[in-house]
Amino acid sequence: MRITKQKDGTLLVPDSPTIPFITGDGVGAEITPAMQEIVNAAVQLAYGSSRHIEWKEVFAGQRAFDATGSWLPDDTMKAFQEYLIGIKGPLTTPVGGGIRSLNVALRQTLDLYVCLRPVRWFRGVESPIKEPQKVNMHIFRENTEDIYAGIEWEAGSPEAKKFYRFLHDEMGVTKVRFPETSGFGVKPVSKEGTERLVRAACRYAIEFGLPTVTLVHKGNIMKYTEGGFKKWGYELAQREFAEPLADGRLLVNDCIADAFLQNTLLRPEDYSVVATLNLNGDYISDQLAAMVGGIGIAPGANINYISGHAIFEATHGTAPDIAGADKANPCSLLLSAVMMLEYMGWQEPADLIVDALEQSFAHRRATHDLARFMPNGHSLGTAAFAQEIIKRIND
Ligand code: NAD
Repeated sequence: MRITKQKDGTLLVPDSPTIPFITGDGVGAEITPAMQEIVNAAVQLAYGSSRHIEWKEVFAGQRAFDATGSWLPDDTMKAFQEYLIGIKGPLTTPVGGGIRSLNVALRQTLDLYVCLRPVRWFRGVESPIKEPQKVNMHIFRENTEDIYAGIEWEAGSPEAKKFYRFLHDEMGVTKVRFPETSGFGVKPVSKEGTERLVRAACRYAIEFGLPTVTLVHKGNIMKYTEGGFKKWGYELAQREFAEPLADGRLLVNDCIADAFLQNTLLRPEDYSVVATLNLNGDYISDQLAAMVGGIGIAPGANINYISGHAIFEATHGTAPDIAGADKANPCSLLLSAVMMLEYMGWQEPADLIVDALEQSFAHRRATHDLARFMPNGHSLGTAAFAQEIIKRIND
């Protein structure tokens, strides 16, 4: 059964929704079945036989290439388009050839303009900071614009020369220090792009009772791109969220990106929802993930809140060094599945999974990447860790 978007903007989720999934390459073969088994157990306990997920396997990456000769077959794209919500393991990035990155292709085709990364700490997980319990942030990274749009020309190429001639001759730009040996990139940041991102961040903050939305930017230097982001963000908030702003349910503020990165280490409790541009969001997501235990445990989703399309994903790569060794941590993908359940409105199984993870980490039982840093930590393989979580869900 298909999940659909209703006229009022909410999702209509049937009791047996079809969810397309990509197993993924490398450790994907281990973490994806582990994630599915845990999710099935949580849904079963929460709803008995009245609800369950119909998993539909679709292919991308190395596995797809080996089987079909295409890194991203049309059927896969169609499935994500048709069923709205999907989940994916990590994919091998093709080296050379037409496709820059499969993840980028998926994001662009479905116009998944928000990259959402919630960052929280689990008691028991080693952190490089003194008070990781104060970290609880939700990063809304703009996913389609900025210097990441892929508009760039290599130094010395005819395009770079032509572009420089245009800058110099038509725009009167004289500030390029070494024009002959410069590569060039273009940084588009639009009002519409900013507004749809900031709107999503404000709605999310209100829905989940989170106190602030902080616009993170470098508008002091890049006045018309990052400065535009800040200006349009504030204007949108004042225009569309006047009531929650007035009654104190929502506070919108801003912070310059470099100060923000310092502050996240010094006063992480000051931040809750963060709305930022593409490149800033990339740096911020990784730093915050490291503050709470690293990429093995950081979930993520790419979402278009207007069409409803969303792909939930492991944020790490295929980990070829440990693939097949029953060592991979399934938590990044599992917590992405928790985000997916929440997005579907299935909060009960989402909570069951998070509770089970909290208990397991508090008892210092985790996969090797986390357990090795826990005092008296007990290392479990991927499959054993999945069984541990299922046991705790059912207890
Ligand atoms: P990686 O994330 O695969 O690995 C970096 C390090 O983290 C390795 O030491 C690895 O063992 C460890 N690690 C990663 N995931 C782990 C997990 N779940 N549990 C325990 N340890 C884990 O990054 P890489 O080695 O740079 O990339 C390998 C491949 O993955 C490349 O083809 C790359 O393009 C691709 N990649 C895909 C995605 C994606 O699909 N989202 C993201 C990043 C990289």
